[in-house]
Amino acid sequence: MTLPQTLAGQLADLLGDRFTEGRSDRDNHAGTEAHHDAMPPDAVAYPVSTEEVAAVLRACREAQVPVIAHGAGSSLEGNASAPQGGLCLDMTRMDRIVAVRPEDMDCTVEAGVTREALNAHLRDTGLFFPVDPGANATLGGMAATRASGTNAVHYGTMRENVLSLTVVTAEGEIIRTARRARKSSAGYDLTHLYLGSEGTLGIITEISLRLYGRPEATMAAICTFPDATSASETAVEAIQMGLTPARMEYLDAGCIRAVNAYSQRNDTEADTLFVEFIGSPEGVREQVALFEELASANGGEDFRWAKEEEARNRLWRARHTAYTATVAQRPGARGWATDVCVPLSALPACIDHAKTLLADCPVPASIMGHVGDGNFHVVFAMDPDAPDERALLAKLNAKMVAEALSHEGTCTGEHGVGIGKQKYMADEHGPALDIMRRVKAALDPDNLMNPGKVLPPAQEART
Ligand SMILES: Cc1cc2nc3c(=O)[nH]c(=O)nc-3n(C[C@H](O)[C@H](O)[C@H](O)COP(=O)(O)OP(=O)(O)OC[C@H]3O[C@@H](n4cnc5c(N)ncnc54)[C@H](O)[C@@H]3O)c2cc1C
Repeated sequence: MTLPQTLAGQLADLLGDRFTEGRSDRDNHAGTEAHHDAMPPDAVAYPVSTEEVAAVLRACREAQVPVIAHGAGSSLEGNASAPQGGLCLDMTRMDRIVAVRPEDMDCTVEAGVTREALNAHLRDTGLFFPVDPGANATLGGMAATRASGTNAVHYGTMRENVLSLTVVTAEGEIIRTARRARKSSAGYDLTHLYLGSEGTLGIITEISLRLYGRPEATMAAICTFPDATSASETAVEAIQMGLTPARMEYLDAGCIRAVNAYSQRNDTEADTLFVEFIGSPEGVREQVALFEELASANGGEDFRWAKEEEARNRLWRARHTAYTATVAQRPGARGWATDVCVPLSALPACIDHAKTLLADCPVPASIMGHVGDGNFHVVFAMDPDAPDERALLAKLNAKMVAEALSHEGTCTGEHGVGIGKQKYMADEHGPALDIMRRVKAALDPDNLMNPGKVLPPAQEART
């Protein structure tokens, strides 16, 4: 498909060489991370200001052409692909850090700033932004997927850490969803409506974020367990007894094996918890001792604690390469990551259920989890050219989602719905899905904002 000529001319006049219908730009924005098929847009635009985004949206609306926002393209559910063609808005050149306000412990950034770029900028201030989805995602993409990561158990997700957004609506109007006050009871909460909307309601161009002081002391550790149940029960009990880890992550034995092979490490190939405590030196020491006592009572052993930054980073590198290492086990494989999240007490049962499903699965797989939040992933190394394998993984994923929903959990704790999770929306939300449809119809009446995402087609709504 191509864009209507009049629109292409308008966009070329507006953006110059920051508008292109070239093949390689289109292919680079086809949403190919993970297992979903490539679906390239018809053209790509690289705006540099909110006003330009507004002008582009007005032009696209007039021509009735879909618009798909694109950050770093690291989302895992086909969230940023273009199944109906249209214009991709690559936000990465909107990368200005607009303001840092140490006195308010907040900042305002453009949507294309990555979390690593923000933290590099903050290095000398003693402040940092904690939300960390393994990939170096843009803050716009993270807001749009309501992302989280390893330290959400302490600092919360994007939901807790965004104060306000500047959004361009489908009509091309520029709005701000809130002021910077830490609390407000003034009307509907538009900030949280746009958070997690995956570009289906409007384009986020600026974000005001909470910042945090760097902790005085930090201590990280790994320890191994005889099985998945004792590891996950330790994680749950740690939270229940009031420990406040900054991070608490689980990798199963197979995952550690994959990481060892990928990174030439020599970690014990057993079910493993990674934890980190922060605070005052005494507070950290106290939490470490309590955690060790609890873990030992559940069969935990082989504790390795790391205090200095370099040693901690070495330890955490295993967790950060877990996805890539799993996929690398099989040449030519693509990753498929499940993403259920359940109330904490249901976590051990759900991980056990996943383990049972995996027992007969011929596809290499690892379990890794943000277990302090009740969220875990099974990552499969899928052969993209084997339809039977794809069908099998879809079935296993559906079973994990059904199990999570039976515990009042969700089909996606952090990756978003995109294309892959639409089929579960009716079961998860019931009649509330109709309210979501009405919101979508009110804010994007022509269905031009990232169409074909989040909400399932009406005929598939009831399962
Ligand atoms: C190895 C690996 C590990 C990961 N681990 C985690 C994890 O621990 N936690 C987690 O939450 N995620 C994780 N992810 C997924 C991914 O990093 C997140 O979904 C991230 O938030 C996507 O940001 P992005 O900039 O790449 O957005 P993209 O992938 O470019 O876009 C994501 C969605 O947001 C929309 N969008 C992007 N920018 C805007 C904007 N400015 N306005 C409106 N809509 C917009 C897009 O249209 C799309 O629907 C991981 C991914 C990988 C590859």
